[in-house]
Amino acid sequence: MQDCSLSSPAPPLLTVDAPAIRTLSSSVSLALLLDYDGTLMPHADDPLAGGPDEALRRLLRDLVGRAGVEVHVVSERDPRILDEWLGQLPVRLHAAHGAVWRGPDSGWSELAAGFDAHLEPVREAMRTYAIRTRGSLIEEKLVGVAWHYRRADPEQGAQAARELCVLLGGLLATAPVEVLVGNRVVEVRPRGINKGLAVGRVRRGAAILAMGDDHTDDDLFAALPAGAIGVAVGGISRNASWRVPSVTAARRVLQEILSIRTRARR
Ligand SMILES: [Mg+2]
Repeated sequence: MQDCSLSSPAPPLLTVDAPAIRTLSSSVSLALLLDYDGTLMPHADDPLAGGPDEALRRLLRDLVGRAGVEVHVVSERDPRILDEWLGQLPVRLHAAHGAVWRGPDSGWSELAAGFDAHLEPVREAMRTYAIRTRGSLIEEKLVGVAWHYRRADPEQGAQAARELCVLLGGLLATAPVEVLVGNRVVEVRPRGINKGLAVGRVRRGAAILAMGDDHTDDDLFAALPAGAIGVAVGGISRNASWRVPSVTAARRVLQEILSIRTRARR
């Protein structure tokens, strides 16, 4: 059964001078697994807005330019949008919660199909809540469907999200799909597809730092091997070992890793 709660305890605060960052940055091979919305960029009110700013492009490009560093962007976004926003950068992209992925020089992997029939009752329930909750909207995704309430009244939106989540849990109890409560979003997607899949696509033996800001990133943190670092951006997580307070702080950690690796090469 899915968990419809919207909050979790916060792990300890990670600062840029933490020994953990220094140790990780000194690894011969380093993989950075980074959620996009709410981690590298602030959440946009419109789910179709929110492309990267110039500072972020430069940061990602510079990180990949350091020997032994792999950057993976692990997002719930569709591949089309990730291509548009990040396709020009030499990073690895994992779209739709890791359902499909691509390397810097390859096309997207194939998608497992055949679950769309289970989504009809989901769409119907979401339509009801979209009408009832002013400012909320439905997003059709490559794999799944999502109801966003970022522009709705926060209290009314959170209450509606809890109700919708419970309703969907009942409707979908025996279906091969799962209900996810993210940052002002309730999403339904095929079971077994989650951001943790990206961990298996990392270069073998690499030290790993993963960052993400909502419950969907907990799957990523849970799949990390021993010794890897999982950082919750904004602090909401069950499985992260550390937290940073904001997108700015998350970028600061990445900037510090870049600085350490830049110094090491001199
Ligand atoms: Mg996010």
